Amino acid sequence: MAEQTRKRSTGLGLAKGLSVTLKTMLQPAVTQQYPRVKPDLPPRTRGVIALKEANCTVCYKCSRECPDWCIYIDAHKETHDPAGGGRARSAKVLDRFAIDYALCMYCGICVEVCPFDALFWSPEFEYGEYDIDLMTHEKERLEEWTYTVLPPPALEDGAVPTEEQAS
Ligand code: SF4
Ligand code: SF4
Repeated sequence: MAEQTRKRSTGLGLAKGLSVTLKTMLQPAVTQQYPRVKPDLPPRTRGVIALKEANCTVCYKCSRECPDWCIYIDAHKETHDPAGGGRARSAKVLDRFAIDYALCMYCGICVEVCPFDALFWSPEFEYGEYDIDLMTHEKERLEEWTYTVLPPPALEDGAVPTEEQAS
């Protein structure tokens, strides 16, 4: 008799569990089904840092301020004679600019401190790799990210545009 009761309660428990599973299977998913469905991220999402090489003056400010020391910059000096005569001028030429995204903690300090608007946040985030070495992005790849950078948001009512924004 006790054996029969035990079997009945086991069967009831199993049926109850299966009904919960079935009910859950038939309900629509509440989570975003990435990668089949792209996540609906806020437009100013910090996905990856882009470099506009033409704006970089090789001042090293970003690499000095980076708390993770994950910005690598190499440059050399070139001296040019001015077309109109006068003293020769020297300028730094960027050889290498790379960010190791395996170390970066996405603090944004480099973007904030760059005095020449050479670094920007891009919302792109799909750059995961199986090899950790490939997480270091060289300047060519960092430049490609600039094409995904969104334009700055519109100024708030009453805000005074800077000279740069007004031109
Ligand atoms: S976001 Fe922060 S950690 Fe990443 S490269 Fe810039 S300063 Fe370094
Ligand atoms: S702070 Fe800006 S301009 Fe200076 S090295 Fe970094 S990216 Fe280039």
